[in-house]
Amino acid sequence: MSIAVVLHQPQDLVNIAAAVRAMANMGLERLTVVDPAEFDLRRITGIAHRTEPIVEAATLAGSLEEALADATYVVGTSARPRTAQRNYRRPRDLAPRILRRAQSGSVAIVFGREDRGLSNEALDLCHEVLVIPTSPEYPSLNLAQAVLLVSYELFLAGAGAPDALPTGRRSLGPATTSELEEMYAALEAGLDRAEFFKARKAESVMRIVRTVFGRTGLDAHEVRLIASIGYQVRNRLERLEGRRSAIPDNEG
Ligand code: SAH
Repeated sequence: MSIAVVLHQPQDLVNIAAAVRAMANMGLERLTVVDPAEFDLRRITGIAHRTEPIVEAATLAGSLEEALADATYVVGTSARPRTAQRNYRRPRDLAPRILRRAQSGSVAIVFGREDRGLSNEALDLCHEVLVIPTSPEYPSLNLAQAVLLVSYELFLAGAGAPDALPTGRRSLGPATTSELEEMYAALEAGLDRAEFFKARKAESVMRIVRTVFGRTGLDAHEVRLIASIGYQVRNRLERLEGRRSAIPDNEG
């Protein structure tokens, strides 16, 4: 996947370092820096530890045109819509398209300088413009924080999508109907032994229990554990009752 973060004339090396860190956090690897006020590899990696692979491979360009020469899809970023008519988009809406375009071509996401943002000429090179929603009273984000939020949305839409969340070692996939039915039978047996249904209707209680568990998406391992709670209660109570009935009344 080819997505480059392009920093246009960054004025503060600390912001470059923080932007690189955000890229590393969100799994972006390609950095292009255009005409920076300063660029010192050792200082940047001194601030953003373990980012050498990104910083050492970074491209330094003299102009934005040069930086974007090979890009097939260019996305600008801006704190506020300017007067000119442009394709303004929110990162969350545009992220899937950016990922798609990165499959077949080279995508560049351009960030402007801290004091002035991107000029109109720079935005003219962009196919679409991302605006991160912010308070209208204070719309302008710190450069590196803007890089973080855009990278985060790309991560959420791609590698960090909800179905890519870590599943525990024990997670066995969703329980089947027969596993669930066995669990309910075990719970009902345990509750019955504990005389839970003496004052309550088993059918209504079990329906509520089913409704509650129905919302949870239990996996096969969890279902087995809950079933064994039910069986254990039943077996233990049966053993206790057995012992009690074995004691003759006159000795009790
Ligand atoms: N004073 C400048 C602010 C530049 S902030 C201006 O008004 O444009 C530096 C860069 O961070 C911007 O050029 C843009 O790339 C990014 N940025 C800051 N806030 C942003 C926001 N709300 N949405 C998208 N990008 C933003």
